[in-house]
Amino acid sequence: MCGIVGAVAQRDVADILLEGLKRLEYRGYDSAGMAVVDNQSNLQRVRRLGKVAELDDALSLQPLAGGTGIAHTRWATHGEPSERNAHPHVSSDDLAIVHNGIIENHETLRDELTAKGYEFLSETDTEVMAHLIHHELTKNKDLLSAVLAAVNQLEGAYGTVVMDRRDPSKLVAARSGSPLVVGLGIGENFLASDQLALLPVTRRFQFLEEGDVCELRRNRIDIYDRTGKKVTRKIIESDLDHDAGDKGQYRHYMLKEIHEQPDSVRNTLEGRLGDKQVLIDSFGEKAEEIFSKVRNVQIIACGTSYHAGMVARYWFEEIAGIQCNVEIASEFRYRKSFVPANSLLVTISQSGETADTLAALRLAKESGYMASLTLCNVPGSSLVRESDLAFMTRAGAEIGVASTKAFTTQLVSLLMLVAAIGRHNGMANEQEADIVKSLRLLPSVIESSLSLSKPIEAMAEAFSDKHHSLFLGRGSQYPIAMEGALKLKEISYIHAEAYAAGELKHGPLALIDNNMPVVVVAPNNELLEKLKSNMEEVRARGGLLYVFADSDARLMQGDNVEVITLNRVADVIAPIVYTIPLQLLSYYVAIIKGTDVDQPRNLAKSVTVE
Ligand code: GLU
Repeated sequence: MCGIVGAVAQRDVADILLEGLKRLEYRGYDSAGMAVVDNQSNLQRVRRLGKVAELDDALSLQPLAGGTGIAHTRWATHGEPSERNAHPHVSSDDLAIVHNGIIENHETLRDELTAKGYEFLSETDTEVMAHLIHHELTKNKDLLSAVLAAVNQLEGAYGTVVMDRRDPSKLVAARSGSPLVVGLGIGENFLASDQLALLPVTRRFQFLEEGDVCELRRNRIDIYDRTGKKVTRKIIESDLDHDAGDKGQYRHYMLKEIHEQPDSVRNTLEGRLGDKQVLIDSFGEKAEEIFSKVRNVQIIACGTSYHAGMVARYWFEEIAGIQCNVEIASEFRYRKSFVPANSLLVTISQSGETADTLAALRLAKESGYMASLTLCNVPGSSLVRESDLAFMTRAGAEIGVASTKAFTTQLVSLLMLVAAIGRHNGMANEQEADIVKSLRLLPSVIESSLSLSKPIEAMAEAFSDKHHSLFLGRGSQYPIAMEGALKLKEISYIHAEAYAAGELKHGPLALIDNNMPVVVVAPNNELLEKLKSNMEEVRARGGLLYVFADSDARLMQGDNVEVITLNRVADVIAPIVYTIPLQLLSYYVAIIKGTDVDQPRNLAKSVTVE
């Protein structure tokens, strides 16, 4: 589920591979490694526990020269993070392999291969693949057929690239459940788990599809489906910035991405709004027909995307008058659920490869949903390809593991979806026109929320010595409180929990003391007076309140209450606007705590394992 880079070229490829790994670092990983075939046709390999920088140091002491190579950043699933378990794995000093994903039947295969005399040097499921392919090579005519024969015996998920020192003119790659993309060069070709890794060397890509196996040479690319039949895959010219992977003037990717939100929201809206209407065709050609029949919406997502879905539920029921359920993908996929007539399944995922969400989509296809729609940030991803309708969030590459601009662009996309569906369900034209107007204002409103950085940075000091915190919100701000709590725990490792403010007295109030800061999201909506009572409940028990409120909410700064005011905005976009200060708060708390903001411990960017 982490990073793969591979290259076949005339020049030495170590630097290209290393740069590729650096560009994939944002996904989170625990070790890194590289192997190339040298001039004497020997496999040379360097692996290190820890960061790519450590691999880089090791490579400067032991440079790898050769035109064919593979490299990997590993996020351990089988076997502890260690040099021994880091990829590439090798079989009989001939084959080297890198792998993203999980092989579920690795134990059976390991026993069979041990019986055949293979010796295992790691605890990984990946090494099983190395020996299995090596064994298949004794029975098959070439590496391609051996890989095809081997992957047909695998259960689970893989994106993998294999290299044989005896024929360094090619790499063979296979994908099932874990993305791989071919990068087309001139007289050289590349492979990676994400196009971002290859932007310094090419902008032309072919996305491998589920089950594809690819033989990559310097001047030739052959792709086959899982039955071995030759197939063609479209060549796509990438419009991602070459610099999409650079931090620019910012100290961290996360801060850069927080500040990119006015632009990313602008991009999400671009070309998709009419004068007073959302342009329905932006959801796809069949959208109008499908939306006119929708009577029920089921949203499936994980993590931050799930919170976006939770906000959308308030919007769907209030604005569009459509019943909406939201569920975590890993729960949904393993339970029997009831599907009302004319239900639309909506999946939300930044990467479009989230394993649980993808599995839920596949399952739902057999469960009687009228149609499926995905909101996703990566064109060509599995969710996009497998859904009836797809809507790109256009956030641009998001490098920080903790999602920021992907979340706000998901919210923008969902609000457009609510308007587009609501139109067919009796929503007044004026209401749609109001939504469109608020959406157009959003980039500049976000801009002014970003100007609150300084007071928020000062507020963050109060959290630096705390171990726990509560986040409160009501209505559509409740999921925003959840997202705020998730951000804080992800990057500062402070335990943070979110509650619908009305729930306070049903339990969490028992936790309140001056070691438990309470963050409140309090725009001036019809729930404000109720929220004020909840805040009094906290204050009366010596709790410390940190409140984000409208300038006209008439909240008094005072003992144990710190208030940061935001400009008054239309209720409908308030959840998007109030997300910004919470992102900044967790960022500045993490800075004070000195954590690894962009790659928080134990986390990975796109969760392509179950
Ligand atoms: N399951 C493999 C391992 O634990 C691959 C992990 C990954 O996707 O990085 O080594």
